[in-house]
Amino acid sequence: MYLEQLKEIKNLILQNDNFVLLPHVRPDGDALGSSVALALSLAKMNKNVKILLNDKVPNNLTHLDNSCIVVESLDIESQWLTESYVAIAVDCSDITRFPAFEGVYNEAILRLAIDHHKTAMPDADYYVVEPKAAATAEIIFDLIKEFEVKIDELIAIAIYTALATDTGNFTYSNVTTKTHQIASELYEIRDTFDDINNHIYSTDTVQKIKLHSEVLSRTNMFLRNRVAVASISQEQLIECGCEMQDSEGIVEKLRKIYTVEVAILLKEEEDKKIKVSMRSKNFVDVARIAQKFGGGGHTRAAGFSSELPRHDIVKMLVEDIKKQF
Ligand code: 5GP
Ligand code: MN
Repeated sequence: MYLEQLKEIKNLILQNDNFVLLPHVRPDGDALGSSVALALSLAKMNKNVKILLNDKVPNNLTHLDNSCIVVESLDIESQWLTESYVAIAVDCSDITRFPAFEGVYNEAILRLAIDHHKTAMPDADYYVVEPKAAATAEIIFDLIKEFEVKIDELIAIAIYTALATDTGNFTYSNVTTKTHQIASELYEIRDTFDDINNHIYSTDTVQKIKLHSEVLSRTNMFLRNRVAVASISQEQLIECGCEMQDSEGIVEKLRKIYTVEVAILLKEEEDKKIKVSMRSKNFVDVARIAQKFGGGGHTRAAGFSSELPRHDIVKMLVEDIKKQF
């Protein structure tokens, strides 16, 4: 089934020339790394391809090749929307995950989606969703093999970045032999990825460290220390001279507490909505909880957005988690 889906995606791609890739909002290493790997491969096949981003490239991902990246929709409209194009949702499969480009997606002559979220509800003419893949990049890797495109260094870096970030550096429960097999092939192309790891994980600013200590120092514990909750307000961001992307890593830190099964981070967005990030350690299915709140994700990492007050969200989440204990 999976292989057939890949072959069909390949055929649909071969029949077209212009592509717009749409990773999800606030792209992470997998969304962006997968998009860059796919874009570079399509470019090698003489296709026109752009990756559309609503946000600037996060600081820890600026090592990725940016030759196909267009930030904001306006450029693409002037350049492209006169010609027909295929849209490909990457690391997401429904339009709610790239709200700024709903129009761009829906006006495509063909809408494809490549994703690995088990909660995916594909909104596409054709899609491949493989929840067994640790990262969408595993699917992209298989697709590139189908294309018979040679994986060069830039593609290897993009795939490596996606794998490393979506697996907590190859430590999470989603890692399989396949993840390691792909990584092993990448090491055939490049002797080391330590510079890439340093870029992803060791380029924090002092402001970011201060934000983390400020937020972590106000952690609240629930259900006999099995649930850790922290939150970030816009005010704290301004005080620390940070942006919301600097919150990256906090929820993983909360999960490291030895008694914790579920870690929750509530982020107040500029529009006052609360973006919730959840992580679990051994058994709680946070994707199921996120789905109830209109979001989604994976068993051990999921999220959603809510307009409810922070206090109410925490209360509802703790109640819900209690049922899984
Ligand atoms: P994070 O907490 O890092 O933002 O997201 C963790 C995981 O949950 C990611 O795989 C991400 O794609 C997914 N996720 C986060 N927020 C949402 C959301 O609002 N909707 C959906 N469908 N998935 C989300
Ligand atoms: Mn992913």
